[in-house]
Amino acid sequence: MTPLASDAQRRLEERRAAIERALPEAPTSTAWRELAETEAALDRIEHGTYGRCESCDGAIGRQRLLALPAIRHCIACSPFASRG
Ligand SMILES: [Zn+2]
Repeated sequence: MTPLASDAQRRLEERRAAIERALPEAPTSTAWRELAETEAALDRIEHGTYGRCESCDGAIGRQRLLALPAIRHCIACSPFASRG
């Protein structure tokens, strides 16, 4: 596992725990979606595909992953420039 992936794994696990603590109080669709995206990113780390764009299979880019650890797409493929 790369240092970037292992750092992301730690951050994503912390985020998942925080979402799971908050969900009983505020079970919003946004929180459920973020939980699903966080778990999907953890799966990608486990399968060695973390950091690869799901559309073009290109590298997502370190700065983008640091800012948005659960991101699925590179900037070129993102449906939303800032958060896709
Ligand atoms: Zn892409």
